[in-house]
Amino acid sequence: GVRAGIVATGSELLTGRVTDRNGPWVAEQLGELGVEVSHLVLVGDRGEDMAAALRFLAADGVDLVVTTGGLGPTADDLTAEVVAAETDRPLELDEHMEKVVGDIIAKFADRLRWDADALAAANRKQAMVPRGATPIRPAGTAPGLAVPPHPERGGPTVLVLPGPPREVRAMWDEALASEPLRAVLARTAPYTETHLRLFGVPESEIAATLREVGEHTDLEPLEITTCLRDFTLEVDLRHAPASAPAAKARDAVVAEIDRKHGRAVFSRTGQTIDELLFDLLDGQVIATAESCTGGLLAGRLTAPAGASAHVAGGVVSYSNDAKADLLGVPRELIEAHGAVSPEVAEAMADGALARFGATIAVAITGVAGPGGGTEAKPVGYVCFCVRTADGRTLARDPVLPGERGDIRERSVVLAMHLLRR
Ligand code: ATP
Ligand code: MG
Repeated sequence: GVRAGIVATGSELLTGRVTDRNGPWVAEQLGELGVEVSHLVLVGDRGEDMAAALRFLAADGVDLVVTTGGLGPTADDLTAEVVAAETDRPLELDEHMEKVVGDIIAKFADRLRWDADALAAANRKQAMVPRGATPIRPAGTAPGLAVPPHPERGGPTVLVLPGPPREVRAMWDEALASEPLRAVLARTAPYTETHLRLFGVPESEIAATLREVGEHTDLEPLEITTCLRDFTLEVDLRHAPASAPAAKARDAVVAEIDRKHGRAVFSRTGQTIDELLFDLLDGQVIATAESCTGGLLAGRLTAPAGASAHVAGGVVSYSNDAKADLLGVPRELIEAHGAVSPEVAEAMADGALARFGATIAVAITGVAGPGGGTEAKPVGYVCFCVRTADGRTLARDPVLPGERGDIRERSVVLAMHLLRR
């Protein structure tokens, strides 16, 4: 397979002022192409530091290095020089790029207020290409560079892209189409991947399940990653395409997860609950009644285009009056059980179901904190009720962990999973 390292340059990335948006994006693109990214390095705008990063990656034996940033016209933009020096290729003026960059710079000339000499220097600097490298047409002013491995010494192919994230994205396809990138990417073999998504299973339980499988099946040929994201457990299995031992390991893992956590698995394609919910609900029309989530669920359900076919509407009934007046929750019920109670959640769901003429309704009422918790109903205590027009009821009243924001977000995700049941 092909292994890659990514170097995002820019001193602003190291002070915390700007968060790197190029590294993760490039890593994702490479991953989809079947390239294994082994390092993502952030370095400042110092030439020696950049050179050290390139040397480290070359010594590590990566096949491809992608750099971003430091291609601008000013003296602190050093990437092209450093890459030329580290790959033993002299910088030469590319006359075609000089014209391309010159035309672009001319358009900015007024705004830059640079004199003619400075413009010409900037132009020439950005049109310098390491010998044998392929320039990539600029999306801003700076061309990228695709540098093939050294003819004698070997080493990685280096793709040099500018810093602005928009330019990285705009130049990506053309960069991939360049001869040096085509040559290195021709050696990738896309992986075979399985993406399981589970809700309501702690990561530790999956780890235990994987250990058990490992006792009787060799999991070595399988790359397994688990990740808890958006309160959902993501289990990704990846292996070389035509490997029988890997396929056997994958089947054993999937079978055991199904056996032990089958009900928690809601996706086998990597799709999220947001992407799947409407399909899983198969023509049902949803209404929501929200207290502690304040409309977050309705917002999330209506985020995808085409939601109007699946969502009738919702009520944000934050106060007791709103619960009574807008949803018809009996005031005696609120007095007897409290606004946060399974009884009130059920009445809220009934109210939403009837008022919106929906076929399924979900209600959420809880203590999001930080204040308002009691011994019986601590912060994080949230009551959920799903009611359907054909008379089914599904109720839960867990104590959710986390702070106010977590409790509200978790409640939304849990409500979506109760809807799909
Ligand atoms: P130019 O100077 O011509 O814009 P450049 O290649 O020199 O191009 P930089 O100077 O490194 O690019 O960055 C330009 C802008 O892009 C800056 O605002 C910088 O904060 C932003 N930027 C650069 N790298 C990243 C990154 N990895 N993530 C997010 N923003 C970035
Ligand atoms: Mg710069």
